[in-house]
Amino acid sequence: MFWLNSFTTLLPLLNTDIFVNKLLSLPQVKCRDTSLLSSKLDTIRQDEQTELLILSDFDYTFSKAYDLHGNPLLSTIGVIDNFLPKDLSTELSNLWANCLIIETNPSMSYEEKASFMEKCWTDAHRIILSAGITKSQIKEWSLMSKIELRDGVNEIANHLLKEEIPLILFSAGVTDIVEIILGRELGQSTNHIQVISNALKYDKTERAIGFAEPLIHCFNKNVSTIEQETFSRTKTILSRKNVLLMGDSLGDLYMGKEREKSQGVTLKIGFLNSHNNDTLIEYLNGYDIVLIDDQTMQVPGLILEFLSLQ
Ligand SMILES: [Mg+2]
Repeated sequence: MFWLNSFTTLLPLLNTDIFVNKLLSLPQVKCRDTSLLSSKLDTIRQDEQTELLILSDFDYTFSKAYDLHGNPLLSTIGVIDNFLPKDLSTELSNLWANCLIIETNPSMSYEEKASFMEKCWTDAHRIILSAGITKSQIKEWSLMSKIELRDGVNEIANHLLKEEIPLILFSAGVTDIVEIILGRELGQSTNHIQVISNALKYDKTERAIGFAEPLIHCFNKNVSTIEQETFSRTKTILSRKNVLLMGDSLGDLYMGKEREKSQGVTLKIGFLNSHNNDTLIEYLNGYDIVLIDDQTMQVPGLILEFLSLQ
């Protein structure tokens, strides 16, 4: 695995504090509280791997925010938006612009924002469905889309498969697109990955006519949503004590909501894809590790490797 190059064969010999110092020597790694990070790693490592669960956001966390040349890449919703007629695309862009104003409004509560986002996503789905898109279009657009998974996602997926560690992948986008991208990039090894997102429903002619319930938006993509019967297959793995959480927005910190009272720990890794000093401070207050402008899975890969050592 490419991320082992910098640590070579030293990894099995490292104790947690030395491992954390090694991580911090990587230029993209920032951490507010190294002793808390060490203590979380120790707790997870002392427990069995059967107690570990991975919760990750998809857009710009599992996928890259930028390509090799610094050009921005698409989100799953962006895949559809790219092909909508101009009037619908403009309507959708205006809607997302309004959503962003609410999402980043510091004077609104989480609950107020969540309620607004539900309406915003309902409107976005209405706009998308009004275009009369088909299942084969979704497949074609997804396969040719400018979405790239982070370097090392393949190795992470293989590691989790080998160690039988489940991964729940959240997206406020579209399930169909996430699954097609995973199939395109990872091949068949995705049985241990459960996608929690908005699945399209089709009529007999395979035209999209709706989205399955529950609606997943940026303020409810968390484990409490899994309590819904639709995702009952996933409920069984939620009894795992410890969580490795990965996200790229401050809202992603809540993906493990409702688990905070559990016995285990949640180790949070945040990808800060574009930043200034203010956002870095906010990310450091929420995430245990913040990765600046890192389009790879090097650090999560090293951590998973370290946690698997006995
Ligand atoms: Mg994201």
